[in-house]
Amino acid sequence: MAKVNQNYLQLQGSYLFSEIAKRRTKFISENPQADIISLGIGDVTRPLPDAVIASLHAAVEDMTDTKTFKGYGPEQGYDFLLQQIVEHDYAARGINIQTDEVFVSDGSKCDVSNIQEIFSNDTIIAVTDPVYPVYVDSNVMAGRSGNYSKLTNRYENIVYLPCNSDNKFIPSLPDRKVDLIYLCYPNNPTGMTLSKDELKKWVDFAKANKCIILYDSAYEAYIQEDDVPRSIYEIEGAREVAIEFRSLSKTAGFTGVRCAYTVVPKEVKAYDEQGNEITLRDLWNRRQTTKFNGVSYITQKGAAAIYSDAGKEQISKLVQYYMNNAKIIREGISSLGFEVYGGVNAPYIWLKTPEGFGSWEFFDKLLQTANIVGTPGVGFGQSGEGYFRLTAFGSLENTERAIERIRNIKF
Ligand SMILES: *Cc1c(COP(=O)(O)O)cnc(C)c1O
Repeated sequence: MAKVNQNYLQLQGSYLFSEIAKRRTKFISENPQADIISLGIGDVTRPLPDAVIASLHAAVEDMTDTKTFKGYGPEQGYDFLLQQIVEHDYAARGINIQTDEVFVSDGSKCDVSNIQEIFSNDTIIAVTDPVYPVYVDSNVMAGRSGNYSKLTNRYENIVYLPCNSDNKFIPSLPDRKVDLIYLCYPNNPTGMTLSKDELKKWVDFAKANKCIILYDSAYEAYIQEDDVPRSIYEIEGAREVAIEFRSLSKTAGFTGVRCAYTVVPKEVKAYDEQGNEITLRDLWNRRQTTKFNGVSYITQKGAAAIYSDAGKEQISKLVQYYMNNAKIIREGISSLGFEVYGGVNAPYIWLKTPEGFGSWEFFDKLLQTANIVGTPGVGFGQSGEGYFRLTAFGSLENTERAIERIRNIKF
């Protein structure tokens, strides 16, 4: 008799996006003429940069000739891409990362959810609340979460670090023993950041307590302000305690093409049962070479093009396009008297819902009176209750129209 992995039965249904879809469908069926604008999506909408397109085409041509054809490549990524990553994303900022510490993959979602495999089953994880749900669910699947409490809307063995307007969305250091800490900055969903001094506290904490920080930097390209670290390795000591995840998804429009990378410096160590130090870079290498067969040559050629002069300029334009939307939303919404966060170094705007509106009541109000779909903050965790996420990934035209409509709502 085949039995299922019982841990999967601990997962809470992907309630958030199915509930949004359900309410949207119901509204459309009752109001078939409604012109709905979505500011809820976490996906890019602009086409790939020209430099990437040209490089993808050239790579396809390579596949037509025996002399340039590529079969299986190195599981860790082609050297031509690793070199570019190390040079432009790290060395150019004075950060020492070697090519054999970088692992190219088909997305950060897989990397941030697979990384927990190399840690023991009794690892205690800490996450911010609200949180990108993948960090939690991948640990639920592995059996680390304990039971889910419908009373608190939390798993009993996970340490949650609340982020709200009281602490300016800066989580406090854990007051309990933890082993793995997931941090995502610039943050999805709040759009907030940590300064270098704040991030330094986490690196120091991790060193003092022998923890590892899993640093998701998917929105690094959106950083506009100087004091915001673009990589955790800008912080002294981070090479000993941090694994960093970067993705081309939001940086260069690769959500459909799929390319990301993970950095595991050789100094990052964890312990075996006997207390011996084990180099995590080697474990991750073993994991990837066993379970992953590399990102396609064509994709990696396309990815390398973002580091050319033309590519850099084009992706910067792409980011500016979305950040202009973010500014329109942030300024538009705050001029209406809303308490607004994020949208300065990230494509997400996190607003406090008006008095008397929970996250879902605000969702319904926005849908019914302005025909706008956003994302209820409570869907990202209990501390998101009373907040709402709008995204800057739409078109300029729809963003402007959406703000005009919100202006006309009477609360
Ligand atoms: C979009 C996003 C990613 C990127 O995921 P990919 O699998 O690389 O597309 C990673 N982390 C967060 C928090 C995100 O929002």
